[in-house]
Amino acid sequence: MTRRTKWARSVAALGALGAALSALMPTANAGTGRDLPKRYLDAPFSLMSLTVGYPNAGFQLRAKKLKESDFLRIKDNSREHAFAHPALVLMLERSAREVARFEKGSLMMVGDLSSKDGGPLAGHVSHQSGRDADVGFYLKDSAGRPVVREHFEPFDPNGHARWEPGVYFDDYRNWLLLRAWLTDNRAGLAHIFVSTGLRWRLLEYGKKTPEFARYVEDAAVLLKQPAGRAVHDDHFHVRISCPDNLGELCYNESRLGG
Ligand SMILES: [Zn+2]
Repeated sequence: MTRRTKWARSVAALGALGAALSALMPTANAGTGRDLPKRYLDAPFSLMSLTVGYPNAGFQLRAKKLKESDFLRIKDNSREHAFAHPALVLMLERSAREVARFEKGSLMMVGDLSSKDGGPLAGHVSHQSGRDADVGFYLKDSAGRPVVREHFEPFDPNGHARWEPGVYFDDYRNWLLLRAWLTDNRAGLAHIFVSTGLRWRLLEYGKKTPEFARYVEDAAVLLKQPAGRAVHDDHFHVRISCPDNLGELCYNESRLGG
């Protein structure tokens, strides 16, 4: 293919993608897939879960639903928004099981992923294309016993719950979770958003804890507080990268100004 036809083809593909994305406003067409570039309408793409567009301007097709288990609970008001790309859903299920394997009785509290077809989701800028998930922190009481809350509990950098005396940020179990994510090669982790204060706290705890110290460098790269966005002091927001085979259908980072 000459450079010019290749260029023309990718412009055509981008044009089709633009039409698909603009079909999101209003959201009635989200998830129909009608406007996808043609090659994504046939097998194998027609059989796969597809994450389309940007985290903050996109949608999804044939998404997977997160399952509850002895280790994982979905917040009541997030049950309709527990859909995402299988890579993310399976990573969450694996990591919840992993934390409970090391600390019996651990229950991961999960908030919003995306809606079934994706598109704009109330209360979020991103969470549109099935690659974002909100995960509550693991909590403990003053004796170190696990505490479970149905809501996301905000913490100060000292690890004290801001509004509930006697509830603490469980550094150990939150690091078990981080380690599970950092060592999960199948999911393609891109970001873990958390407040600057809790990021600092986790990195300091990791450095002085032999079983976590070797992961601190990786954790430092992935943990971040996004500029100008809500402070993530009551949950981790985890995002996976685009699957390799989706080409121009999927953009890793949010659209600027979106
Ligand atoms: Zn989020």
